[in-house]
Amino acid sequence: MEFNSFNFNPNIVAGIAAAGYTTPTPIQAEAIPPVMTGRDVLGLAQTGTGKTAAFALPMLQRLSEGERGKVRALIVAPTRELAEQINESIIVLGKQTGLRSMTVYGGVSINPQIKNLRRGVEIVVACPGRLLDHIGQGSINLSQVEMLILDEADRMFDMGFLPDIRRIIKQIPRQRQTLLFSATMPKEILRLAHEVLTNPETVKVDSLAPATTVSHALYPVGQHLKTDLLLQLLKKTNTESVLVFTRTKHRAKRLGEKLTKVGYKAASLQGNLSQNRRQAALSGFRDGSYQILVATDIAARGIDVSQISHVVNFDIPDTPEAYIHRIGRTGRAARTGDAFTMISSEDTLMVRAIEKALGQEIQRHTLSDFDYSVPAPRKEAQPAKPARPPKSKPGVKTSAGRRSPRPEGYGPGPGNKGKPASRRRPQTGRSTPASRGH
Ligand code: AMP
Repeated sequence: MEFNSFNFNPNIVAGIAAAGYTTPTPIQAEAIPPVMTGRDVLGLAQTGTGKTAAFALPMLQRLSEGERGKVRALIVAPTRELAEQINESIIVLGKQTGLRSMTVYGGVSINPQIKNLRRGVEIVVACPGRLLDHIGQGSINLSQVEMLILDEADRMFDMGFLPDIRRIIKQIPRQRQTLLFSATMPKEILRLAHEVLTNPETVKVDSLAPATTVSHALYPVGQHLKTDLLLQLLKKTNTESVLVFTRTKHRAKRLGEKLTKVGYKAASLQGNLSQNRRQAALSGFRDGSYQILVATDIAARGIDVSQISHVVNFDIPDTPEAYIHRIGRTGRAARTGDAFTMISSEDTLMVRAIEKALGQEIQRHTLSDFDYSVPAPRKEAQPAKPARPPKSKPGVKTSAGRRSPRPEGYGPGPGNKGKPASRRRPQTGRSTPASRGH
């Protein structure tokens, strides 16, 4: 299939050329035709498949006709990085259309967003929390929205955003076209899809078939030796740009510091950073001034660095879907990439689940000149115990009287240990101001 079979108008054709796309990806080939006919679409696709253009191109085509200066398309995304990335794609693809697009997310001043909204835009890419702030203070008018796109719906559920999403949808006319994209389909998302979509066409690109250009490797190692093994691996491997995942933000921070200390150009990305420092870490990673970025799953959402050569799971993710998401960052658009995963004895079940999801056994590797026999320091000599759940429920009030945010990196929450994301209890319904920007 070729892009010209979609009959895009010349402005959009110019955008596709500007982005450098020559052939539609499978999700584009499947989703663009029904979206062009105005149908609701349920898209099962992970990051890295080209799903942004799958909804952005037909959206731009639709908005090219009709009124300007009113918010006519609303895209809701879980994190500010993803929102930025979607907005950047729309700007490139829609350059010739004269349509205006902006992002709305927390963690930055609201005033420039209000000014922009007043000036008039046709497309808003928003994270739920800040969008609700705008709705609350009347600085955004959603009464003219004719297209609603919910992107990475499963992540929004994971991050506790579903109640916010439902509140937002109440502000949008019922008469609209709705697209919902999700990498996985937990029952909560299925329920949401039933609520918001009318007679949808379902399109699916193997959500559990990651880029075939990625090769996978497991590195069994004791917890206490992971940092040393990583250093050794980095020394031995010809890496361009490495994204390292840790389970918690503290581990991300510590590891980032350690890598910097031994001379790597490394940064860490975790929820505690100010928006400026986050942007600095991200753009430094994008432009190559940082070779290594250490991040938690949540902090890394939406990172689109097409030249990532290696994804290292310093800690194994807690679901097979999260594994696919993580490695979706490498091997993009027909490039090759490597995914290294460090595993210790307690990870056996998750490794099996990941292998099942991938439909292949992943090879175990050992480094011949690495000393695996170094004993753990005394306090870590015991097998790692699962984190003891706090006595209180997730999202209960903290001493400051605020709802505590979901643990960054979302290791299994209390009561969720070992359950796949799709079977976990929803976490805090409402995000704290600090976590809203996500
Ligand atoms: P996405 O899944 O939307 O995050 O896209 C993943 C990456 O694929 C982005 O870097 C896009 O710019 C790129 N991409 C999207 N569509 C195409 C295409 N048709 N041909 C080549 N690259 C594409």
